Order: sequence, then structure tokens, then C-alpha cells
Amino acid sequence: MSKFIATRAIKGAHAAVKMADDTLQDALKKMGPDTPVVFKDKIGGGTAFYLPTIWGLLGTKVQKLGELVPVMDYARGLLPPVPAENMWLPYLGETLDAGAATLYAFETIEAVRFVKGEQPEKKDGFEYNGPINDTQMRAWGIQLVDGRMPGFAALVGCAKSTEVAVKIVRELQSKGQLIFICSNRNGRNVADQLREANVEMGYDTFIVPFGTDIVSAIYALGFATRAALSFGGVEPGDYRRILLYNKFRCFAFVLALGPITDMEYAAAAGAINYGFPAFADTVIPNILPTGITKFEHVVSMPFDDIPGKDDLEKAERLVQRCIELRGIKIKIAKVPIPVAFGPAFEGEVVRKADLACEFGGKGGMCFEWLRMKGLDEVEDGKVTVVGPDMDTFAVGSKNPLAIVVDVAGRKMQKDFEPVLERQIHHMTNGAEGLSHQGQRDITWIRIHKNAVAKGLRLRHFGDILHTCLKNDFGAIVDKVQVTLYTEPDKVKELIEQARAVYKERNARMAGLTDEAVDTFYSCTLCQSFAPTHVCVINPERVGLCGAYSWLDCRAAFEIKPTGPNQPVPKGRAISERTGEWEGVNKFVNEHSQKKIERFTIYSLMDAPMTTCGCCECVMAVIPEANGVMVVSRDDYGMTPCGMTFTTLMGTVGGGLQTPGMMGHGKIYVTSKKFIPVEGGIKRLVWLSKNLKEELAEELKAACEREGVPDLMDKVADGSQVTTVEQLLPFLEGKGHPALSMDSIIG
Ligand code: SF4
Ligand code: ZN
Repeated sequence: MSKFIATRAIKGAHAAVKMADDTLQDALKKMGPDTPVVFKDKIGGGTAFYLPTIWGLLGTKVQKLGELVPVMDYARGLLPPVPAENMWLPYLGETLDAGAATLYAFETIEAVRFVKGEQPEKKDGFEYNGPINDTQMRAWGIQLVDGRMPGFAALVGCAKSTEVAVKIVRELQSKGQLIFICSNRNGRNVADQLREANVEMGYDTFIVPFGTDIVSAIYALGFATRAALSFGGVEPGDYRRILLYNKFRCFAFVLALGPITDMEYAAAAGAINYGFPAFADTVIPNILPTGITKFEHVVSMPFDDIPGKDDLEKAERLVQRCIELRGIKIKIAKVPIPVAFGPAFEGEVVRKADLACEFGGKGGMCFEWLRMKGLDEVEDGKVTVVGPDMDTFAVGSKNPLAIVVDVAGRKMQKDFEPVLERQIHHMTNGAEGLSHQGQRDITWIRIHKNAVAKGLRLRHFGDILHTCLKNDFGAIVDKVQVTLYTEPDKVKELIEQARAVYKERNARMAGLTDEAVDTFYSCTLCQSFAPTHVCVINPERVGLCGAYSWLDCRAAFEIKPTGPNQPVPKGRAISERTGEWEGVNKFVNEHSQKKIERFTIYSLMDAPMTTCGCCECVMAVIPEANGVMVVSRDDYGMTPCGMTFTTLMGTVGGGLQTPGMMGHGKIYVTSKKFIPVEGGIKRLVWLSKNLKEELAEELKAACEREGVPDLMDKVADGSQVTTVEQLLPFLEGKGHPALSMDSIIG
């Protein structure tokens, strides 16, 4: 640590602690120590992790203003004296302590701002996000786990120009990095620059503007802390493990744009505790000013010294260098299309006003069909467009489209067709200006004007699919050829053929029961976050994130035999009724660091599956109602068990086995194997309203199958019932079958 940096960081830490002390004392005087303290984002989504950095690192649950007093006492105690001019270099340790003190001070300041109603911040009609809510953090979970999203870049300050800011952001997005924005230079920051360039910010675009000063940088560390607590199963207060977890699993860094202030040096020292280095696009004195120089955890890369023909090329190299220095390996394929491509564009929405043209959707006709062919029937990389292309369509018009993908490969199997076909959604969505929804014959694709202007045409759909299928599924796919049809008659003719195939697949899927197979599959992808968690995936229950079915896992095993999806032979049955098998128990025990002894596949109360941070739903028993409730991740409301989804997750996540509570995929609710030991869907007394609506048809079919066709009218949701006191009369009034079933707790 250079003396220059250490000195300025320590000075900054003193200033931060003083600012926090002052604002806290003032708030205590005006509002009193019992004033409740909570973090919320601008849409009102909260966190179950209290003030996350303080809770994670110190183990202190701050819920009231007064509880911040000991935290600040502690922070003050950490502050080393500011080194005198003639003093030797301070120890790295002292600078890191100053950094930690800064983080506690920042979180305290933000907490007080919330209490005073000053957060999330507003500026010229633009609303900053404030902290990231728990739901969003978990939604990003899978991408963080499988490496599509390596980590985050915190952009501090303001780029050289708006163009440079946009370029930096686009480069980071195409590498899958989340982007956090904070602080300012002379009142301007990257968020201002992005607004000028009409770049959308928000959770959907992976760009989160925290606030206008450096204090809001604490939300980045709060996010990192919660990731360790929620995915890593780290206990609050286990300072060391939280920091180590982030150092090795979250590829984050700070990029300081423009001259750095003392308090920013202090914040950087705080981030270095987490193993997050700081890069600067300015000269830092005492760091060798010879272009790009690495000095411990702070790297100075003066923008003007970066080689490149213009600022945009310099910006690209700057990001490239940050990515290299942080040791991030990019997993995203380079796709040969005229628009940007990457996971950041997956959530993009194309609005009516920006629409060039669309395919499918209400009243339209658009479908996708992936089929296996012989090796000599497919010409690899061939893309054919039959009919008019996007540049000839009327603006905003709806057109028919058939996407027919032929694949061949020595290890390809007919059963993998739907697995690969489902990837079309995720793959095409990666293109900037293209939004893809649905699948099969309910596909709906919208194209942004700008994308067509940049040269995006139908053949690029083919290029995307060819590149991505070969890249991600190269082990089973040797050749890919794509044909796109826009001639109405041809599309009509093909859609009938495709529908016959969908029907055939459905019948095959329906016959795929737990009894029909002797092998289940594991998924241990989430162990990088929840080290003892194992998903055992049977034909009739998807992985709890909803992303992996039994067939998906089987295909994944073919693709990567040493990967996270392994066959789990059932072995001898211990109980067919509870779904307990020797083979499953053995596998789970061996793969959970011996923490889990046994798993039942069919019971909630007896040795249920473990839960990690990315489940789509949580199920919990409500003893008073003799039934279970299911709450979905998209449900922000209160549930009758007295906890919100986030709080429930805090209780069961992290790879724990909790009888009476379990994470699961949405569609599991409609499975024939939905907690059969406890009596199946008849036990369902409360269900999140959004799930009731989203799965209406499937639920109806499931209830009919179970002989309770009107059950859904008797199941409460959050718009009717939010407490257990309300639930009982509701169920009694409706004559819910659970009330007369055997006691669920035995
Ligand atoms: Fe994680 Fe289970 Fe989903 Fe695999 S199936 S990614 S282990 S939640
Ligand atoms: Zn998970």
C-alpha cells in the first residue's frame, strides 16, 4: 500500500466516521433511539438482512437508531491515527481497518437518510435505486452461480465524456458484469451520462444507480455481504468467511473515473477488505506513472495513456484490462451480429413506440421448432431466409415467422430436442434490441427500431443459434442449420407439423414418471454458493430454481460427464411411500460434506430436500390450518406464517434441511408428486396470487386430476388473507378439505 493512498484513505475514514457520528447524534436527538431503521429500494423491495454490512461483518442486528451507537463506537475504535509527514509507511492492516470503519460509517449514514425519508435519492426527476432488494439479488443468483454473471463493477464518479461512459457500460454488460453507479465529479456521475444518452437503467438492464455520493457505495458491499450470507451459508458475524467468500467467488471491482477524493480512497480501502481491487483512470501519485501499472490492490491506468486510436477504443481497453486484472474469465460466446450481445440484454423490453416489427403475440403466428436430423442432412452454419426480411416490413407491423433449427450430432438424442429448443429463448434474448417471450407456438418476438437500423436481419437469428448451440452444447451438437420462414402459407403449413411434434412430446413427457426410471439426477451447481446443497431431480419434480428438469439434467450429463448433473441411481427402496432410496441417501450424504444423512422425495415433514438461495417458491407448513402455504419469489407481500418470502428464505436457504419448510420450483405445485406423503395438493391452503394466475390452467388440471376440481376457489391468496387469524375462518367458510384431513404434524 503506498503511503500516499494509505494517508488519504485514513484521512477519508476519519471524515466518514465524523460525518456518521454527527448525523446519527442529530437524528437521535430529533427522533429518538427507538425509531425503526430499514433499507428499501425505490420499488419498495426490502431486505431481510437488516443493515447487511453491519449484520454480516459484526453480527449486529440493527433495527433501531439507538442500536447504531455501539456500531459507531466500534468504528471509531478501528481508526488508526493519520500518519504524520515523516512517518514510515503505515501497515496495510491499518488502512484496511480504516476501510472497515468507513463501511460502518457509510451504512450508518444511509440508515439515517432512510429514517429521514431522504432515500432513495431523487435528482432532476430521476429516481436512484438505493439498495438492491433481496428478491432481485436472488433472481441474479443462478447467473452468479453458473458464471454467466461473474460479479459487479462499481463505477465511481464520472467518465471523460458521455460516449465514454456508454462505451464502458456496454463493454461491461457484454461481459456479463452487473454495474453499480455512485458518487460524482462536480455534481455529475455515470448515471447522469447514461440518462443523457437515453440508456435505460434498472434491474432489467443490470445497471443499478445507487446514489449521487460515495456513501451509497455501501450498497455494493451490502450486496456482496448478502450474497455470502444467503448463498454461501456463512453465519452473520463471521467476518473472515464473508470476506474470503467474496474474494474468491464474486469477481467485483471498483472503477474510479476522474480524480479520487479522500473518502473514496477510504471506501476503496473498505472494498479491498473484500478482495475487490480499485482501478482508476487517473494518475495516482507515488504509483509509478508509467502507463498501466499494478500496485497491490490499487491500479492506476491514466485514461489518456491507454493505447487506442480514440476515446472509445481506450474505454474498451480500460474495461478489458480491469477484467484481466481481476482474473475474470468470460463465458459468453462472441456472436457475429451487428448489435451487442450478452446476458445484460436478456431482460430488455421493446416498447410499442420503439417497435420496428414483431412476430407472434396476440393474433400472430410465430413458432420455433428444433429437430434432430442425420449428420448428412445438416449443413453446419447454413442459414436460410425464406420470404421477406425485417427491413421490408411496415413499421410496427406483426408478421408470421417460423424458426426451424436442424441439429445433428453423434451424441444427440431425440429426448434432447425440447431441452435445446428451450434455449432459443435465452440465446436470442441476448441480442440488444430483441425481446423474446414464450416458446413453441406461443413465441412472441419484438424488434427495436435501432436494432434494424444497425443492420439486424432475420439471418442473424440463425447466426446466434448456430454460435450459441455449438458453444454451449458442443458435446452433443456437431452441426446446426437454421431456416427462417416469413411466407404466411409456408408458416401455416409448418406450424401444423410442429404442433403434431409438440403433442407427441407432451405424451412422452406425461409417460415420464418417477416409477418409469431407475435413476434420478443431481444438481450441485449451487454448491459454489451453498456448499451443502444438493438438488435431487426426479422426472416429476424440477430443480428448486425451476431451471432444470430431469431431462435437462440428463442432457447436461451427456454434455459434461464431470459436471454438476450426475446420475443418482435410486438403489434399494427404504420406503416407496415417502420416496426414500438407499442410492439417493448415499449420494446426498457424499455430496453434502456428510451434513445431510437422508432425503425423502415425497415428504415435506420427514427429511425434505435442502434449499438454496435460488428457489422459485418456498412452502411452509401452517399447523393451525392443517395445511401448507406456497409463496413465490415475485410475491412481496406478507404471508399467513408471519413472514415474507425474503424472511422465509433467510430461514431455510443456504443448503439447510428444514422439516416443514422447503424451496421448490413453481411448476412443482401441479405435479402428481406434490408432497404426496402429506396428501398432495389438497393440503394447499394458501398460494401467492401471482402463481394462482400464472399457473391457472395447470392448477385447474391438477385439481381435477386429484378429484377436487373446485379446490382453487378454496385456497386463499395474499389479496384475501395475510394472517393465520384470517386464514382459518376463510378456510372454514369455504369448506377446505385440509381441515378434515389427518393432522399434518403427525
Ligand atoms: Fe441450484 Fe438446484 Fe437449480 Fe441446480 S437445480 S441450479 S442446484 S437450484
Ligand atoms: Zn441455488
